[in-house]
Amino acid sequence: MESADFTLNDGALPMSRPEMPPAPALNWQQEMQQALRNGRELLEFCHLSPTALDFDPDPDFPCRVPRPWAARIRKGDPRDPLLLQVLPRICEQETVPGFGTDPTGDLRALAGPGLLHKYRSRCLLVTTAACAVHCRYCFRRHFPYGEQATPWPDLGTHLAAHPEIREVILSGGDPLMLPTARLQRLAVMLGQQPQVRTLRIHTRMPVVLPARVDAELLDFFRRLPLQVVMVLHVNHAQELDQTTATTLAALREAGVHLLNQAVLLRAVNDRTDSQQALAETLFSQGVLPYYLHLLDPVAGAAHFTVDTASALALHAELRRALPGYLVPRLAQEKPGEAAKRVLAG
Ligand SMILES: *Cc1c(COP(=O)(O)O)cnc(C)c1O
Ligand code: SF4
Repeated sequence: MESADFTLNDGALPMSRPEMPPAPALNWQQEMQQALRNGRELLEFCHLSPTALDFDPDPDFPCRVPRPWAARIRKGDPRDPLLLQVLPRICEQETVPGFGTDPTGDLRALAGPGLLHKYRSRCLLVTTAACAVHCRYCFRRHFPYGEQATPWPDLGTHLAAHPEIREVILSGGDPLMLPTARLQRLAVMLGQQPQVRTLRIHTRMPVVLPARVDAELLDFFRRLPLQVVMVLHVNHAQELDQTTATTLAALREAGVHLLNQAVLLRAVNDRTDSQQALAETLFSQGVLPYYLHLLDPVAGAAHFTVDTASALALHAELRRALPGYLVPRLAQEKPGEAAKRVLAG
């Protein structure tokens, strides 16, 4: 599937003409199979002893970390901001008042068929249950995806009945876990609805598993007669390296607009310098910060909480430290409310 004319990037600055991503040794499905799948293995990979952290050998929400992303974890550091996002820990078992299994009210909203239409001009499709990485703070960590076979609703009928929809958002899980051929079939269907101008994809894959951005996917984006917006999910500057720079440059060359959403997490990215470095590094790789989300109160993630007052103070500092276009909107999801609540813009 990979063409032979990929050239290895020789470490040139990302500013130079975008190269194709380096031909990965493994394709993305093989990379997926090789992902780290338990805490002990992950600690070993990071040169840490099994007693370095209170890791949980048998968590309800299983451990899953692709190796290319795990390689960016600093070796021998139990406080590494990437490790803390993905290592299952015993402290997740604590029950904390206010932290439940459906913090965003998705289960109610999704009683229907995997299609959320909360805003006038855009609708959101839950495409798949799967993710390449399992983030410990994920608001869907208790989501019964298994029961939700994610049958795609009749999107065509819905769009025809709602000519005001201009943008279709693919969410999940991670939509890029779907084979490109599946995305292509969806795109053909969207193409039959002339009102739809933009396809948005919420994904973590270009950063956690860069091999997913292969020649076939780039070709798909290049040919798509729609605006394509990709909202990445990066929480810390250390998640970005030369490989992501090359991968993101290739996406931009294929016409994809790149934005980022992050989640504000205690001990991971709750300092001004960390958020500033994230914004600046994203920008150096062609990505604009979009949202900084307050943690959804999901059971098992209470230890990541940053209180609202601290979040607002941090955001005010960011506004002083960064140009306006690099300051993400501080946002909070409120179950049952019609729109995402922006606390500070
Ligand atoms: C967040 C969200 C969107 C997108 O909102 P934007 O403000 O355009 O980023 C759309 N639909 C649903 C259900 C959402 O939760
Ligand atoms: S990639 Fe997104 S949906 Fe998947 S586990 Fe992480 S936060 Fe949750």
